[in-house]
Amino acid sequence: MLRITGKHIWLCFVSAVLILTLFVGIPAASEIKTSGNAVYEKPVIIIDPGHGGVDGGAVGIGGTIEKNVNLDIALKLRDVLTDAGFTVIMTRDTDISIHNSSADAIREKKVSDLKNRLEMTRLYPNSILISIHQNTLDDHSVTGAQVFFSPNNPQSKILAQFLQDEFNSNIQNKNKEIKSAGKNLYLFYYAENTAVLAECGFLSNSTEEALLNTDEYQNKIVYSIYSGLMKYLELNQQHNN
Ligand SMILES: [Zn+2]
Repeated sequence: MLRITGKHIWLCFVSAVLILTLFVGIPAASEIKTSGNAVYEKPVIIIDPGHGGVDGGAVGIGGTIEKNVNLDIALKLRDVLTDAGFTVIMTRDTDISIHNSSADAIREKKVSDLKNRLEMTRLYPNSILISIHQNTLDDHSVTGAQVFFSPNNPQSKILAQFLQDEFNSNIQNKNKEIKSAGKNLYLFYYAENTAVLAECGFLSNSTEEALLNTDEYQNKIVYSIYSGLMKYLELNQQHNN
């Protein structure tokens, strides 16, 4: 019996994109067509895989290091967005911290790394920043993906809700709510772009930690982010007309 899994959904999605591309042709780099034939500018997307290098981020109950899952998901998202014609900027695409060479202690490197990521968002003021992280909590029963948004740009909250809706319906049987980024989320507290941070799941829950290490579950997360982003861009277009 054929079980319909996330992998199948993903394969169908990829096939549909390929078929559409064959029939419609690849759209110009700066434009995207929606189902309503509206055409709009594609914003530059900055994908930020959290942590890297000396900064591993959170450690899972089974030893998963957050920075690695963040990078896996971010690279998959980059490939999907690039295939869809977006210009994608990665804050990192390998296991590195992007601190200045003058930074010495680990704390200094972390601060320098975050400042450099913030500088990158300023180079592309009209871009959309999507940061990828994984969560942990002392309560090991907590699971699910949750989206945080920058308080500095009202569009961020709207985009965050689209992503959260996709997470709630595609990967979890619960309705998590979006949250505004506080000062502890440095990049999002200061970024002025449309900026969201996806905490894709809890490494402190052993079941979710195992899932987050699989391509199938990572693809579901990427599909959710991509779908939410497309719906957000379509809504923006309707408002602009
Ligand atoms: Zn993190």
